[in-house]
Amino acid sequence: MYRLQPDQQAALEKLQPVLDNVISVQAEDVDTQGRFPREAMAALGEAGLLGLTIPTELGGMGQTMRVAAAVVDEIAQRCASTAMVAMMHYAGVNCYLANTERFADILRAAAAGRHLSTLAFSEKGSRSQFWAPVSKAVPTADGKGVVYNAEKSWVTSAGHADGIVCSAGSDDGESVTVFAVLKDDPGLTISGGWNSLGMRGNQSNPMTMTDVELDYESRLIGEIGKGPDIMLGRALPIFQVCQGAIGVGIAESAFKAAQGHITSQGFQHTGTKLSDLPNLRASLARMRIETDKARAYVASALDKAESEAPDAMLHLLAVKESSGETAVTVTDLAMRSCGGAAFSKHLGLERAFRDARAAIVMAPTTDVLREIVGRALVNLPLFG
Ligand SMILES: Cc1cc2nc3c(=O)[nH]c(=O)nc-3n(C[C@H](O)[C@H](O)[C@H](O)COP(=O)(O)OP(=O)(O)OC[C@H]3O[C@@H](n4cnc5c(N)ncnc54)[C@H](O)[C@@H]3O)c2cc1C
Repeated sequence: MYRLQPDQQAALEKLQPVLDNVISVQAEDVDTQGRFPREAMAALGEAGLLGLTIPTELGGMGQTMRVAAAVVDEIAQRCASTAMVAMMHYAGVNCYLANTERFADILRAAAAGRHLSTLAFSEKGSRSQFWAPVSKAVPTADGKGVVYNAEKSWVTSAGHADGIVCSAGSDDGESVTVFAVLKDDPGLTISGGWNSLGMRGNQSNPMTMTDVELDYESRLIGEIGKGPDIMLGRALPIFQVCQGAIGVGIAESAFKAAQGHITSQGFQHTGTKLSDLPNLRASLARMRIETDKARAYVASALDKAESEAPDAMLHLLAVKESSGETAVTVTDLAMRSCGGAAFSKHLGLERAFRDARAAIVMAPTTDVLREIVGRALVNLPLFG
């Protein structure tokens, strides 16, 4: 459905052994232990897939967000936590690409599988309203950089990511700038022990930056005071479309598990199968139709973005609402249709059911996306 060209399809072929030999094998343990999918990320790095969207001259595969969406969809069908870690990496990389020369070494390291990136936008003070950071980046006396203080509330891959793309409010609170913070920067601490309902592998722990010194020459992403260009122009589109693809991947996994169960199990006393029940067939049909609709919408949003359609941003915003909610609906249908068996770990359904719920509250949340799309539909500016 992503309509990949042969060179784009080749990137997916590199993914297949990682899916089969590592991600599928580790998924249940990652969820049960609530641990970071380190083997999967190492294998994606070895296959060159952490460099998927990095230009070939920097050692990457030079692919687009269409291929990134197809990749995370496939990963999410096996392990949504791994898909989310990969997706946040692609979003972080897309920010570094605003200053290819400045971040050339980091981009080369990512292409070689030696640098994992993530985004730290949400803050304790402004919660899911990431566009209004309360953190402070105060210019140093020599004017060459800033001293940065922030309390980031949830950072995927915390403690594992080598680079953290951070939003920072100005001293007067009037503007936002984006910086790259590195894992070993003095003043960076990680707290909490991620033990969550879903996405249990992604280690979205709080991060505190205390007087972290960042020079403009090596750490500034974009321009001073122009953070929204990076956050909305670079991070948001790939985040939204890949988050949409992850929702579709989760829904797909739930459909396949339900289909397998309903077609293989039956009632001994009547000699009939679960698939002889018309309500379960109708439920499977709904799951299939909803999943296909959501994937088609991801593909349509990609078409809009690639053709720079005037309403591309609107669709890029709506796509996360669409697939996030689809994943919740489809996993719920699958849980109901598979009865008590759905509660057991062996179908993988209860994991999909839990993982699906993260998208609703992940910023921009479903509520906020509906508000933005609604504003557009009554001719108000998208962001009020
Ligand atoms: C698994 C997971 C991983 C995450 N990883 C990252 C990450 O790597 N980086 C990162 O920056 N953040 C990350 N987040 C954080 C995420 O983006 C949100 O910031 C966070 O989930 C918001 O939680 P909260 O309790 O602060 O929500 P709150 O802001 O308290 O929201 C509570 C409710 O209020 C609603 N609400 C809030 N504002 C509005 C509004 N203006 N209009 C209508 N309704 C509104 C919300 O929709 C929600 O239903 C992650 C979250 C999850 C669950």
